[in-house]
Amino acid sequence: MSGVLVIAESRQGSLRDVSLELIGAAREVKEQAGGRLAVAVIGAGAGEHADALGADGVDEVLVVETPNEHFEPHVHAAAVEALIDEEEPTLVLAGHTIDSLGFAPALAARRGLGFASDVTRLAWDGGPVAVRGGYGGKVDVELDFPGKETVLLLLRAGAFPAVEGSGAARSRNVEVQAEPRSEHLGFREADTGDVDITKAEFLLSIGRGIEDKDALEQFEELADKMGATLSVSRPLVDAGWVPNARQVGQSGKTVKPKVYLALGISGAVQHLAGMQTAETIIAVNTDPEAPIFTVAHYGVVADLFDVADELAEQF
Ligand SMILES: Cc1cc2nc3c(=O)[nH]c(=O)nc-3n(C[C@H](O)[C@H](O)[C@H](O)COP(=O)(O)OP(=O)(O)OC[C@H]3O[C@@H](n4cnc5c(N)ncnc54)[C@H](O)[C@@H]3O)c2cc1C
Repeated sequence: MSGVLVIAESRQGSLRDVSLELIGAAREVKEQAGGRLAVAVIGAGAGEHADALGADGVDEVLVVETPNEHFEPHVHAAAVEALIDEEEPTLVLAGHTIDSLGFAPALAARRGLGFASDVTRLAWDGGPVAVRGGYGGKVDVELDFPGKETVLLLLRAGAFPAVEGSGAARSRNVEVQAEPRSEHLGFREADTGDVDITKAEFLLSIGRGIEDKDALEQFEELADKMGATLSVSRPLVDAGWVPNARQVGQSGKTVKPKVYLALGISGAVQHLAGMQTAETIIAVNTDPEAPIFTVAHYGVVADLFDVADELAEQF
């Protein structure tokens, strides 16, 4: 057993971003896992995504064309099982998505694989080490998988940096026998409540640095003025000041806006897990040693209220 097998994901004919994030995560541990990095794409028209998946570091793209146009758990399960038999990987990575949840836990149980879902960090220590939340997100749990030859991990979308650009990996078709069992009636996006911070292009994110609930209104108004969506760090949700739909981080939402402006957020690892792949991160903090500055593209060591007043004037 060696190497990494990534299960890419497409929906409605488009490759999902998480696929390139899985390859990014796989590349980080490929050497320790030994062997090769293979990326599988499963579905009708899967071959169309082969070029996009052949990024640097990928050794081969495995294309499994299926007769069903839409996702079917048992077809995916049969395909992934066949690929595991063929590749004998140490590590299998798929997205923590509604599709993977439909087949991966059952497959892992049936095959006796090591398994963890909603993984936000991945390391290697003689085998894969996965970090995920535990006890309703109150603690970080570090998991290893002693005695397991193959481990299947579902990685949270947005928590790992995506690979960019295409490489020259070859692709190969793999035949899998599995007939569709269901009729697909339609596709509807889930209702995300009053606000969906995961879709926002510009997030104004505030943390415990604002100190007082009464200050909230000022930042709601500022977000409005700037055309931003307001998001927060967890202490503001724990204090009951803001609903948890606006929380960024490991036990909140993973966001990937064009601009993430963080005011008075220290940058704890659980917060970074939810926003470090934003395109441009701007951080304002009075503490020059605050960890948020390690991921920020632009940093301002200043009082957030001074910056907020200045922004309100400028806009
Ligand atoms: C399992 C687990 C899951 C978690 N999940 C999440 C999660 O999803 N999201 C999340 O955010 N946290 C999460 N946390 C909590 C996380 O560990 C931190 O406690 C939290 O992110 C801290 O929030 P903060 O940065 O707003 O507050 P603090 O860490 O208290 O930081 C406040 C910052 O504001 C700065 N500041 C103070 N006053 C000013 C001022 N006037 N102007 C400028 N800067 C100022 C300070 O220098 C400081 O850096 C989780 C924790 C655990 C254990």
